[in-house]
Amino acid sequence: MSDFSLPNASVETLLTHAGRDPDSQFGFVNTPVYRGSTVLFKTLDDIEAQAQKYLYGRAGNPTTDGVETVVTALEGAYRTKLVPSGLAAITVAMLACVKAGDDILISDSAYEPGRKFADGFLAQMGVSARYYDPRTGADLAALMLPNTRAVLAESPGSLTFEVQDIPAIAQVAHAHNARLIVDNSWASPLYHKPLQLGADIVVHAGTKMFVGHSDAFAGTISTTESAWADVERVRSLLGFFTSGDDAYLVSRGLKTLSLRMAAHQQRALDIARWLEAQSEVAEVLHPALPSHPDHVIWKRDFTGSGSLFGFVLKPAPRASVAAFVDHMQIFSMGYSWGGYESLCLPVVIKKNRTAVPWTKAGNLFRVHIGFEGIEDLKADLAAGLERYAKAR
Ligand SMILES: *Cc1c(COP(=O)(O)O)cnc(C)c1O
Repeated sequence: MSDFSLPNASVETLLTHAGRDPDSQFGFVNTPVYRGSTVLFKTLDDIEAQAQKYLYGRAGNPTTDGVETVVTALEGAYRTKLVPSGLAAITVAMLACVKAGDDILISDSAYEPGRKFADGFLAQMGVSARYYDPRTGADLAALMLPNTRAVLAESPGSLTFEVQDIPAIAQVAHAHNARLIVDNSWASPLYHKPLQLGADIVVHAGTKMFVGHSDAFAGTISTTESAWADVERVRSLLGFFTSGDDAYLVSRGLKTLSLRMAAHQQRALDIARWLEAQSEVAEVLHPALPSHPDHVIWKRDFTGSGSLFGFVLKPAPRASVAAFVDHMQIFSMGYSWGGYESLCLPVVIKKNRTAVPWTKAGNLFRVHIGFEGIEDLKADLAAGLERYAKAR
């Protein structure tokens, strides 16, 4: 893979030109799907030297390398590894930081399957997992134990949208010889660069914004130079590999990431502001709105906002929630977000919250704003709000 190196290239130019090398692909613009396990050696000297670029398909191929090159450039990382899912990115990152007898601190807003891994798997391996208030910054120091080796942040949380003070948390983690892992799926590296704010490892659910079309799974792990060896060791020992087919879909998605993010941002904000003015809406949880409690941190540390936000509707029984979501014409219910289609999900925060209970009165929803006509989306929501009120 040729390294695209235009000094000071913009993000848009990196997305369109980095990570591909037409000269090595007979002039074809895109790096094709490499499907391959066996890599051949020509001579005994070659197989003994183990010096050629590819030795075994599980370590990667030109298709996966291309994606890793682009994400590395976007995050300002030392290196990036593609893994089969966002969850795999989280679990490999955690395993790269802790061993038996260690402790990990996890934001109470973090992606629930990551919590399940910590509680159900790390615990069995002799690692304790504890949870902290996502709005804790420098005060995290009070929770650090002598054996705390990792802190996991997700900013903003993808259900509750607290923005975390990454620079303050990084400082605390480093002062206690622990690493900071940040799940950056919401903003994408276009609007938030945690490694530049002190994080050691950044993970993405590539499934969401990178793929962008709801048709593949992938995760990425990008690290500083000092965290790289541990991440790559754990990944290769576990045998995680992303197929060329899936890597190709990530690569294709990345080409339009900046255009899609800009459109998602503008449209999500438009809908968020519109929702704020509706009488059934108690609160809109969107970090780019001045009404959001963490707006100041978002403004300091982010250069844009994503497709996903939450809102709380005024208290009403389950029948109202059903009336709202069951008869939507455009919005659908589904967990994985980041595609072209809009989603609206009722969210119940219970077991996935242990450090700071969720106490907001009313019903919480999460929306992903896609690319349908904006007035159609508002009309769909308006009709839903009417049904919600009527069913009370
Ligand atoms: C979806 C998601 C993940 C997990 O990604 P998968 O590819 O579905 O495993 C991790 N973090 C966040 C914030 C997510 O939204």
